Amino acid sequence: MSKINILGISFDNLSKDEAVKKALSLIAGKSGDYICTPNSVILSMAGEDEKLKNAINSSAMVLADGMGVVAASKIRKTPLKERVAGIDFAASLLYELSLIGGSVFLFGSLPNVANKAAENISTAFPGIIINGVSDGYYYDEQELSAKINEAKPDLLMVCLGAPKQEMWMQKQRGKLKIGIMAGLGGSIDVFAGESKRAPLVWQKLRAEWLYRMIKEPKRFMQLPMLFKFICRATVKRGERHG
Ligand code: UDP
Repeated sequence: MSKINILGISFDNLSKDEAVKKALSLIAGKSGDYICTPNSVILSMAGEDEKLKNAINSSAMVLADGMGVVAASKIRKTPLKERVAGIDFAASLLYELSLIGGSVFLFGSLPNVANKAAENISTAFPGIIINGVSDGYYYDEQELSAKINEAKPDLLMVCLGAPKQEMWMQKQRGKLKIGIMAGLGGSIDVFAGESKRAPLVWQKLRAEWLYRMIKEPKRFMQLPMLFKFICRATVKRGERHG
C-alpha cells in the first residue's frame, strides 16, 4: 500500500531512502510543494484541528516521525515500513544534496541558533550551499519571501514547530521559487547542537520521546495529547479511517 491512513492522516508508506529519493525528484521538478513529518503529538493535535489535518493531508509527502505512529499503524493492521524521523530524513537529504552541490535555506528557531546550525551543516556536509538563513521569530513575511525567491534554494527547512510550520507551508505552496520545503520541527536546534538527540540506546529502546521529555520538561505538557493519541490508536482498533 502506498498510502496508509492513521487517525485521519494519510501517510506515505516509504522507507527513509525512498522518501529521500522522492524528495530529490520533487526538487528536480522545482515543485514548490511541501513535506510534513508528523509525530504522535501532532497526529493527536490534528484530530482536534481540521485545518492542521487538512494542511498535512494536502502536502506532497507525509512521513511518520515517531515510533508511536508506526506502532499505531501496526495495531491497526496497516503497518508502515518504518519510522522516518524528520531529523534523519533531513540529514540524509542534506547529504544527497551535498553530493550534487545543492542548496538549502534554513528558516526557524532563534537567530543565533539558526546561524550556528548553518555553520554546522556547512561543516558536516561539505559541498552543500547554504543560501539563506532566517530565524523563526523576528522575520517580516514579505522580506522573507523575497529573500527565499532570490536564493531559490533546493530545500527550504521550515522549523517553526507544529501547527505553525504546516499552516505556513500550506499558505506558501506554489508561491516560492524552491525545490521543496519540509516542516522539520526542532531540527535546526539539533543541527545547532542546542538540543541533543537521545543516545542510540534510547533510540533503540524506542524511548526517544521519553528522553526528550526528561531533557525538556515543558514537553510533559504534551502528555494529555499523547494519552489521547494512544486511546484513539488502540480503542478504535480495526477502524481504518479514524
Ligand atoms: N519556533 C520558531 N518560531 C515560533 C515558534 C517556534 O522558530 O514562532 C521554533 C523553536 O525555536 C524550535 C522549533 O520551532 O526551534 C520547534 O521545535 P520543537 O522541537 O518544539 O518542535 P516539534 O518537533 O516538537 O514540533
